[in-house]
Amino acid sequence: MTQTTSGHDEHGTAAPATALSTRHDPRFDAVVRAAVEQGLLGEGGEVAGFVDTEGVRGSVAALHDAFSGAPGVLHTFAAKACSLIPVLRLLADCGMGCEVASPGELRLALDAGFAASRIVLDSPAKTREELRSALALGVSVNADSLDELRRIDALRAPDSASVVGLRINPQVGGGAIGAMSTATDTSKFGVALCDPGAREAIVRAFRERPWLTRLHAHVGSQGCPLELIAAGVSRTYELAEEINAALGVRQVTGLDIGGGLSVNFTDGTVRPTYADYVAALTAAVPGLLSGRYALITEFGRSLLAKNGFIGARVEYVKDAGGRRIALTHAGAQTATRTVFVPDTWPLRIGAFGPDGAPKNGPALVQDIAGPCCFAGDVVAFGRELPELAGDDVVVLYDTGAYYFSTPWAYNSLPRPAVYGFRAGQDGAVTFTTVRDAQSLDAIAAESGLAHADALVGADASPRPDAPGVRDG
Ligand SMILES: *Cc1c(COP(=O)(O)O)cnc(C)c1O
Repeated sequence: MTQTTSGHDEHGTAAPATALSTRHDPRFDAVVRAAVEQGLLGEGGEVAGFVDTEGVRGSVAALHDAFSGAPGVLHTFAAKACSLIPVLRLLADCGMGCEVASPGELRLALDAGFAASRIVLDSPAKTREELRSALALGVSVNADSLDELRRIDALRAPDSASVVGLRINPQVGGGAIGAMSTATDTSKFGVALCDPGAREAIVRAFRERPWLTRLHAHVGSQGCPLELIAAGVSRTYELAEEINAALGVRQVTGLDIGGGLSVNFTDGTVRPTYADYVAALTAAVPGLLSGRYALITEFGRSLLAKNGFIGARVEYVKDAGGRRIALTHAGAQTATRTVFVPDTWPLRIGAFGPDGAPKNGPALVQDIAGPCCFAGDVVAFGRELPELAGDDVVVLYDTGAYYFSTPWAYNSLPRPAVYGFRAGQDGAVTFTTVRDAQSLDAIAAESGLAHADALVGADASPRPDAPGVRDG
């Protein structure tokens, strides 16, 4: 999902940054210290992402536990939340499936080792080629519109193993963040359920397609209260009952209830929990976990956010107009949403010394700025933290989802390295490389190096033929 690129949140009414806890969170202290000692953070290790391997396993276990009352739930991970193959493979190893929304994400899911039958393809703009290949692979596909169903009619082989569903927009309204709310009246996603004639058209679509067996709804992401998500699931459940009653046969067999459980960015506690989520769901739809419908979930942020952090070196500090500013290597290239919509996406920051030990001097109000060359590249304004100095390390907590895994290429800054970590019995922390930092050669290659002469001189080579468009 995209955001506006203004400096202010236009829709959000999320908790203001001042609600953030500035108390030091010790959870990753030993990891930060070890990362400095092992040279992953410091001179030459300006910024990196870190993933808590055991933490991820714990979060997946909590998800499975919460739904343990329901038979055969397929929990998929929304790949966009942490699109790194080793992370996806870890999640596959934990028994999860994968939700993908682009050819790139489908490729990552397959490379990570997910079976096609455990992959779900959602997206509002699937091409014919994407649909054709998903249907040939046996990946589940949720059509975003009735038009897309008509495309699938033409592309689906009668023996396709793909489960096909239809995404609906239950139009239950938005949450605290407009850009994250997919069930508003005018959302671009799904078939708008409450629009005139929509229910009849949906029932007809199912009647005409015996292979259409699933309904999908994803009410939204960060900022959607549990009751709103539950209301969306409730409308989806009622629609499934209505379709099956109208058809006189239980054709709808599965409900994909999406993801969207919010993450608490204000302190270290996990709330709401998956158990809270299931309690809200079953309050709204008592029969949901009975096995009447196969359930699919698509959580992203709630599985990874608290199991990752960004560490970055402080290069310099300065004073300007009476304000202290720490110039660090974590900015918009790795904390894009926080920089562009700071009031909606505040992050807790930790202060560590050059040796990786937490700083505990008196608090000073400071701006934590990034390395990008635009003035708004600040990840925290006026934050009270122990006074930072050059060569210190800052930690951006709760950034395991949609942060270091989703970099932005501004200023030709490299994609930061990502490391997984785990603590041994003896407390020693071991790291493994999840993604290498992008090299300068790779940056040059992605910046057109192979076509360096394209715009100058007699050597300028003509553009090769455009790739063939296979159907119109
Ligand atoms: C983004 C998305 C998700 C995951 O949302 P989270 O808030 O990360 O849990 C699930 N399903 C769909 C269709 C999405 O677009």
